[in-house]
Amino acid sequence: AKEAGKGKYMVFDQSFLQVFNERVNLEKYLRQGLQNGEFQLFYQPQVSVRNGHITGFEALIRWNSPELGFVSPLSFIKIAEDSRLIIPIGEWVLFRACAFASSFQEEGYGKFKISVNISVIQMLQDDFIDMVMRALEDTGLEPDLLELEITETLIMESFDALIPKLAFLRSKGIQIALDDFGTGYSSLGSLQDMPITTLKIDKTFIEQVSDEGDPRSLAKAIVLIGRKMGLKVVAEGVETEQQMKYVKRAKCDMIQGYYISKPLSEEDTIQLIRSKKVY
Ligand code: C2E
Ligand code: CA
Ligand code: CA
Ligand code: CA
Repeated sequence: AKEAGKGKYMVFDQSFLQVFNERVNLEKYLRQGLQNGEFQLFYQPQVSVRNGHITGFEALIRWNSPELGFVSPLSFIKIAEDSRLIIPIGEWVLFRACAFASSFQEEGYGKFKISVNISVIQMLQDDFIDMVMRALEDTGLEPDLLELEITETLIMESFDALIPKLAFLRSKGIQIALDDFGTGYSSLGSLQDMPITTLKIDKTFIEQVSDEGDPRSLAKAIVLIGRKMGLKVVAEGVETEQQMKYVKRAKCDMIQGYYISKPLSEEDTIQLIRSKKVY
């Protein structure tokens, strides 16, 4: 019995320690990564369905760690949130993205909106609004060219604390997008109370549109809801011609996905803008 008990605890201890060590290491590498400038932003174009022009870009973080190689944000954002490192990382992201978007105008390329993913941990900080306003001031970006993306699930979890902050940001002209819409639990009533400008249809709804086109996909219904509420609707994760046709018929306002372009480096983004490509 003693042997068996010991064995059990060994298994538990080892896997626990392993997970624990991996987390501690990842945290350590994240902190180091921030100091050493290992993060980069990539930019994925958003295209107007109406005229095929690029209207803006979503900034997406990339991490090339000397110890770990390329690490997907899907694996490190959660740990950055748990360790609160998302606060300095998110601040870096916001300043970098605003500076990049502001440089388009200085270079005479025109106006493009920049969409930045914001973690609720960041938004709950007392100085969040000051930080955003400082990013705009320091970079000279017009407030209406900045869009903050917040996931539907997270906003619902902290609804009362977040709504006044979002309302203030809106009053300054900053746009607010509800990300991954359709996967959370917001009622249509609470949606009406949210000071938002944009709905981003989660890509699972676009995935459902197969080669035959799927008349049962809820994407169309989501567009109608957005329309009724006076919101812009973005379809994300559009990968195929079929899906492209579907979201056009559904009258989405904007399209984002591999069918148009993968997220691009700063250099490639500038090249794309210079090419004045119309989709
Ligand atoms: P998200 O905000 O929903 O971003 C969209 C994700 O879908 C991105 O993955 C993008 O590269 C990917 N994507 C774009 N087009 C397509 C497509 O046609 N098909 C498919 N299958 N995928 C497509 P990525 O860059 O790996 O980011 C994953 C998630 O990590 C993001 O999901 C977002 O939640 C988070 N994230 C990324 N950058 C940041 C950041 O700077 N701050 C915060 N807080 N979170 C971020
Ligand atoms: Ca997003
Ligand atoms: Ca999304
Ligand atoms: Ca997502």
